[in-house]
Amino acid sequence: MTPKDTETRLRGLLKAEAERAIDLCARMVRIPSENPPGDTRDIARFSHEYLEGAGLECRTVAPQEHMPNVVATVKGDLPGPHVVFNGHLDTFPVADRSRWNYDPFGGRIEGGRLYGRGACDMKGGLSASMIAASLLARVRDQLPGRVTITLVSDEETGSRWGARYLLETHQDLWGDALINGEPSSPFNFRVGEKGMFWFRFRSLTPGGHGAYVKIRQNAIQVVLNLLRDLLAFGDRRAPVPRVVVEMMNEAHQCFDGLLGPGATDACLSASANVGTIAGGTVVNMVPEHCEVEVDFRLPAGVPEQYLRDFLAEVMIKHPGCDMEQLHATPATLTDPGSLLVSVARRTAEEIRSHPVYPTISIGGTDCRHWRLRGVPAIVYGPHQHNMGSADEYIEVAELPDVVAMQTLTAYRFLTGWPSVPRR
Ligand SMILES: [Zn+2]
Repeated sequence: MTPKDTETRLRGLLKAEAERAIDLCARMVRIPSENPPGDTRDIARFSHEYLEGAGLECRTVAPQEHMPNVVATVKGDLPGPHVVFNGHLDTFPVADRSRWNYDPFGGRIEGGRLYGRGACDMKGGLSASMIAASLLARVRDQLPGRVTITLVSDEETGSRWGARYLLETHQDLWGDALINGEPSSPFNFRVGEKGMFWFRFRSLTPGGHGAYVKIRQNAIQVVLNLLRDLLAFGDRRAPVPRVVVEMMNEAHQCFDGLLGPGATDACLSASANVGTIAGGTVVNMVPEHCEVEVDFRLPAGVPEQYLRDFLAEVMIKHPGCDMEQLHATPATLTDPGSLLVSVARRTAEEIRSHPVYPTISIGGTDCRHWRLRGVPAIVYGPHQHNMGSADEYIEVAELPDVVAMQTLTAYRFLTGWPSVPRR
């Protein structure tokens, strides 16, 4: 059998079974996994049994008892690389249930839409990956290398016990390529993410009586002066690599159409946002304390050092202030010219019969943990509707195409495509 024959087998399986992702997604939506509190034991048990039933070798890795991660593998009979699928089992909480017109845990399908908490983030894309892995298991006698699916917990609250833990403790799960089903859309897939850095800036002064303003330093005024310089970060032209600019320019119309005017610019720009401010005691005192928290974002492909250099330059001009880092997630990028990205693009365009663009994510996903280890990673999932709010839903017709794109991209990557002849 040639790889082309195996693809024909896979296409037959996809035709017959890709739609199973819709029912699987509905069943998964019916198992609550809100985070917080983040207890994913029920949905992990369900997924474990499902994948075991599909012939994958399953294990559970649970550094926290109530946040298990499921790892399922299929080894092909031929030598080859390792493709890893990843998705998270936890969801945002339902919040105010009275705002929902549909039961958030009903998994109801109506008018071509599947409603429920987690339908788009990300039980839809995760169901697609589960079906993809189970179909690849069906051709294991002709499969090069290995396919693993990692279903993780704790994504919505930082991944400490999910993807981050798995990759720190299981180097065999890094793989050679990563496919994630977080929402994107049928028209684009994601190859990078912006970086996010949170800092607290503080000024402490002796303060004093409010009548003595000329001879007492005002902590709020000191911080306001600093802020003026910090916020200028967003006006600077960040050194975004040319490949990223060209990629986003190509997708510009599609991307802004999906996410709103200005989305492309937001991907290509650095930003600084003051999120909190606190200071002073009463109106008739010169404040002795003021602090602000600022969220800096960096475009994909821009190194963290760009921000560090900027901060060093600013802080030297404001000796009355100190700075503390609260959080750091570097920007990540998979080379738009890499094998995974070109396979994914060609495969998606074949399935959809329209252009499908590689783009950047504005928000964050667990892909970053793989990219930071040098593993190419893409996101391809259904388009999101009402993500994180009431009546979250996906269009069910998109799911079988997500299954097909993920299955064939994984298979073609494993065969070392483009050695697979074009149809
Ligand atoms: Zn998500």
